[in-house]
Amino acid sequence: MNAREYDVVIIGAGAVAENVADRAVQGGLSAVLVESELVGGECSYWACMPSKALLRAGNVLRAAQRVGGAREAVTGSVDPSAVFARRNGFVHDWDDSSQVDWVHGAGIDLVRGHGRLAGVRRVEVTDADGAVTTLVARHAVVVSAGSDPLLPDIPGLADAAPWTPREATSAQAAPASLAVIGGGVVAAELATAYATFGTRVTIVARGGLLGGQEPFAAEAVTAGLEELGVALRLHTSPAAVRRDGGRVTIEIDGDPVEADEVLVATGRVPRSADIGLDTVGLETGDWLDVDDTLLVTGPVNAGEPWLYAVGDITHRALLTHQGKYQARAAGDVIAARALGRRVDDAPWGVHVATADHRAVPQVTFTDPEVASVGLTAAAAERAGIRSRVIDYDLGQVAGASVQADGYRGQARMVVDEDRGVIVGVTFVGQDVSEMLQAATIAVVGEVPLDRLWHAVPAYPTMNEVWLRLLETYGRPTLDD
Ligand SMILES: Cc1cc2nc3c(=O)[nH]c(=O)nc-3n(C[C@H](O)[C@H](O)[C@H](O)COP(=O)(O)OP(=O)(O)OC[C@H]3O[C@@H](n4cnc5c(N)ncnc54)[C@H](O)[C@@H]3O)c2cc1C
Repeated sequence: MNAREYDVVIIGAGAVAENVADRAVQGGLSAVLVESELVGGECSYWACMPSKALLRAGNVLRAAQRVGGAREAVTGSVDPSAVFARRNGFVHDWDDSSQVDWVHGAGIDLVRGHGRLAGVRRVEVTDADGAVTTLVARHAVVVSAGSDPLLPDIPGLADAAPWTPREATSAQAAPASLAVIGGGVVAAELATAYATFGTRVTIVARGGLLGGQEPFAAEAVTAGLEELGVALRLHTSPAAVRRDGGRVTIEIDGDPVEADEVLVATGRVPRSADIGLDTVGLETGDWLDVDDTLLVTGPVNAGEPWLYAVGDITHRALLTHQGKYQARAAGDVIAARALGRRVDDAPWGVHVATADHRAVPQVTFTDPEVASVGLTAAAAERAGIRSRVIDYDLGQVAGASVQADGYRGQARMVVDEDRGVIVGVTFVGQDVSEMLQAATIAVVGEVPLDRLWHAVPAYPTMNEVWLRLLETYGRPTLDD
């Protein structure tokens, strides 16, 4: 049998896994990535990057149409074939050789094939020809296998050749009509992209849109989709789906939706059905529960700790940037533990992913965009925080009126009144995504409101909303 030894063996080579390997190697360890598809994973080829490439042209065009002078110059509509071609460039035509070059350049090894745990610190990799390579980890195995689309149990759906986000982000042409089942971020983004291409889009969602977000954000995105001509069938569930004669029919309350394609975007399941979890006493098909140093919890790590998980498969925050943040902590802590260095696992320490609990930034790249970090008002209340909610109309900010005629947007900050710090921020409006990092710094840094008064936003930028939020909150007087 062909067995190779490394300090760290990582199952998966998505963007998250790459970061674990990189940090471990920089920390002085050897590392190998195991990949069954494309190095770079979902985000690079079928998720973040291609979806944003599909959305950008429409957002730029609409932004230009909102500015007098530019509006007159921009009279056409988006050219879908040019957008698909630009997207093909983003995903390197689904060729991962540049990512493989990066892996090798970073001093990381790569084994192609399907990896499965085979007991403690062992991973067996089966390649396309059925040959098996055994990898033995001296210190750690990290599971970074990601997630798969969830296919809801709707009669007929699986047989109707539904699109998952993979088909929607890799299509080379837009269908004339598309039904989207789901009301989350992915559903809203892809509905926006295809509606921009001239596709007749219908969203069918069990609830409203963007469930976990501030209600005003969901309302603005709902209105934005309606303006794009998207038909919304909300608070309803399909009874059945069937495809005949090429078209798909979704049965809903006696008023069916017909479309050329049906996209299912109803959430994710862990990619853990066939990774050998049973060989180490874990439940096949489960998400992997981890502590803040990304060690898998439970008896599997009761002795010398060795099994870690990062990224989507932990179910902590299904976002690339948050997975990569976990990966940096995991790679560093694995090296520290392996080499007997000090481990800093206190909250906000070097080796923990504390922000997963309190400060996850997220952008929904619809039109308008939603950019949020930390807690919504409702989540703060549920967490028992004595909070005060401050709202401000972004359209009233001078910088916003420069960006677009009649700019429409909204900002909210949620203040923890006992600590005098911000625990959540949500912005809605055109181009608010680029305003999010300041909010993230305020939440993570727990910057006291008194000090924030000294962070002066430049005039006339949209960031002046920070000053307006503080003014609305009110400045304490020295007699308070
Ligand atoms: C349409 C869409 C748009 C999105 N947009 C954004 C966005 O804008 N921003 C954002 O932050 N997030 C976005 N996400 C979420 C983001 O894609 C995921 O959070 C991210 O890809 C998770 O990274 P990961 O490394 O955990 O998993 P993946 O990217 O899925 O990587 C896992 C890798 O492991 C490999 N693998 C799995 N099992 C095995 C095995 N047994 N053996 C060998 N290899 C294996 C897979 O082939 C894959 O390459 C989006 C998701 C979707 C669906």
